[in-house]
Amino acid sequence: MTQDSGNRFGGGGNRRGGQNRRGPQRGGRSGGPPSRGRGGPNRGPRNAPLAAGRTSAVTVRTRRIIELPPVMSVKDLADAFSISPPQVIGSLIRSGVMATINQQIDYDTAEIIATELGYQTRLVVPQTDEERLISQLEQPVAEAALQTRPPVVTVMGHVDHGKTRLLDAIRQTNVVEGEAGGITQHIGAYQVEIQGRKITFLDTPGHEAFTAMRARGAQVTDIVVLVVAADDGVMPQTLEALAHAKAADVPIVVAVNKIDREGANPDRVKQQLSDQALIPDDWGGDTPFVNVSALTRTGIDDLLGILLLVADIREFKADPTRLAEGVIVEARVDPNQGPSATVLVQNGTLKLRDSVLVGGVIGRVRMMYDDKGQKLRKAEPATPVRILGLESVPAAGDSLMVITDERLARQVADQRARTTQIMSTATLRPATLDEWFKGASDTSKELRIVLKADVQGSLGAIQHSLGQLTETNVNVSIVYSGTGTISESDVRLAAASGAIVVGFNVRPDVAARRVAESENIDIRFYNIIYNLIDEVKAALTGMLDPEFREVTDGYGEVRAIFRLPGREQAAGVYITDGRAIRNSKVRVLRNGAVVHDGSISSLKRFKDDAREVATGFECGLQIQGFNEFEDGDNVEFYHREQVRR
Ligand code: GDP
Ligand code: MG
Repeated sequence: MTQDSGNRFGGGGNRRGGQNRRGPQRGGRSGGPPSRGRGGPNRGPRNAPLAAGRTSAVTVRTRRIIELPPVMSVKDLADAFSISPPQVIGSLIRSGVMATINQQIDYDTAEIIATELGYQTRLVVPQTDEERLISQLEQPVAEAALQTRPPVVTVMGHVDHGKTRLLDAIRQTNVVEGEAGGITQHIGAYQVEIQGRKITFLDTPGHEAFTAMRARGAQVTDIVVLVVAADDGVMPQTLEALAHAKAADVPIVVAVNKIDREGANPDRVKQQLSDQALIPDDWGGDTPFVNVSALTRTGIDDLLGILLLVADIREFKADPTRLAEGVIVEARVDPNQGPSATVLVQNGTLKLRDSVLVGGVIGRVRMMYDDKGQKLRKAEPATPVRILGLESVPAAGDSLMVITDERLARQVADQRARTTQIMSTATLRPATLDEWFKGASDTSKELRIVLKADVQGSLGAIQHSLGQLTETNVNVSIVYSGTGTISESDVRLAAASGAIVVGFNVRPDVAARRVAESENIDIRFYNIIYNLIDEVKAALTGMLDPEFREVTDGYGEVRAIFRLPGREQAAGVYITDGRAIRNSKVRVLRNGAVVHDGSISSLKRFKDDAREVATGFECGLQIQGFNEFEDGDNVEFYHREQVRR
């Protein structure tokens, strides 16, 4: 799957307000019906489901091509095909989806039913009430009013490489003498001034948060500073940060930190990042590298200078004369002040007493503070401010929009609340390799992969083999590769970049699996390189064999190991998630890597054989042909089921 086919319906219920909907770069709405691929995961609820008040969700255009919306009820679908709802329900059940007559199903599911019934369908995204309302709130773009605005910068990098310290150093460099102690408030973002110009820094939000925000359509960062400790070099989270930054398509400035340390080797960092196609500008590439020490505050001014230079080249602009638009950076309830939200103003000027629409919440800017806690009356583009006066707490990544027509805005807010509700009850099928192929024929020609493997050696071999797949006219692009457990960050990256996750001899942790489920991300597992390559090849050429899907039943932790006669072992296992089922298959995991994959030979509760053991209980586990348990091993119980194509 790719960006566009990833989740054709503008995402799951957790994605709320669209962002940048009214940005200066946005052109007018085009006339005709949007194509199937329109509105990738970055679009928020623009592809939102049926507008309230529409009488029929479905239009029959020609005899056999039926236009369907992104989400519809079983009854709507039956009406479209002129068959009875029970027939549709029967067809759904045969496809493995349990549904009732009023259940909302997504377009992909409907399409499968349609194919079975001999119809062709086309996805049509109706303009929702929300879109119609929003378009009335839109302001025309005035090119002439555009002015240079400060750049917005996010600092990313491996843990302990000095992100926090660097941000502190930058803040202190900026303390104007005599300023009340220069104490900055924690509001999640702040501005510094250098050479009479401003730079906005977002407090390093963690890679997942960065990408989660981006997946919701909030592109908040203009420049990423990648911090790498000169004595440690490129580490796994450095690569992860790099992948997130590349996926966001923002310029990267590398801060080689801790150059005061003995053993600091900035050239090695350059070499390592060159291997990742991040070529230093003094080596003929276009990535600025700056040597800094956050401790001794060496090189901080150079770094800020470079950021201004990048800003000059990119010419970040906004129109301060407009009504403000922005994005929520963080929000909470203050015990004394009520809902409190940090907003990054992205365009226009936010003023005291402005009425605002934030996600599905309305309010009025009652108070506004800057990052030093000073009261403000107005905030221009790229300024972070804390505001009071919202009716409830918005989510990070929600968009903010100043409104003049409160009645209209209230309708938008209501509509958004409804959208969120419908989306969260819709049955969304996972995006799979197979589906990607179906979409590939019309829209996308690139299969994106987030690749995780047990050891560096297998990574190299897999990358090499995938690179050799030249017989098709489809590209395989590896968005990110790394070793170890498939993490939440990997899955979020895949979600934001329209990729599938491929695990070679590694498994996801519980958090990763949850996100994969909620974001409908396909994770595929292999333990033989040939199988992996073969299956990707088959997907590229549209010849996938019947697919077996793995279903995880539960996870457990090995808490004790017992020796039995005949050199056999049993493990005392505590079930941490899901359940253990006697007929399940079982994997033994050590630090995320698979050390054994086999069958259960015995599952006991106390002395008795057990058919099933639930979360929070302990059991005795023996695995056929496996007697090498170690303390701290994890086990995963799973079974396979065939997936209908
Ligand atoms: P983060 O996890 O990336 O936010 O890293 P921190 O900013 O918390 O820094 C991790 C450790 O490295 C702390 O003990 C810092 O004091 C130290 N540190 C950060 N920058 C430098 C530096 O430039 N030189 C030296 N010697 N130590 C540093
Ligand atoms: Mg830190």
